[in-house]
Amino acid sequence: MTRPIPPKLFPTGASVAVVLPLGPGAIAHKPAADKRKTTKRPWRGEAVYQDVAVAACDPKGPQAAEFSAAWADHQGALACTEPACFPNA
Ligand SMILES: [Zn+2]
Repeated sequence: MTRPIPPKLFPTGASVAVVLPLGPGAIAHKPAADKRKTTKRPWRGEAVYQDVAVAACDPKGPQAAEFSAAWADHQGALACTEPACFPNA
């Protein structure tokens, strides 16, 4: 079964999130952000948080990297068909 990435995402920008490694069979998710504690030294006794890219269907899951849909498609990534990502792919 092929699940091409929706063409409307192709024009430009970082439009899909892939849990690395990117390559044939990788899953291209809709990108989302999750605030996570970093490993940076605490600032004034408080942990440092930053937004990391994650898959929209798994916002508490592993960190993802954002790519343009065209590049992810060229690398062989497939669209994620979870309702939170691209259910119509
Ligand atoms: Zn997904």
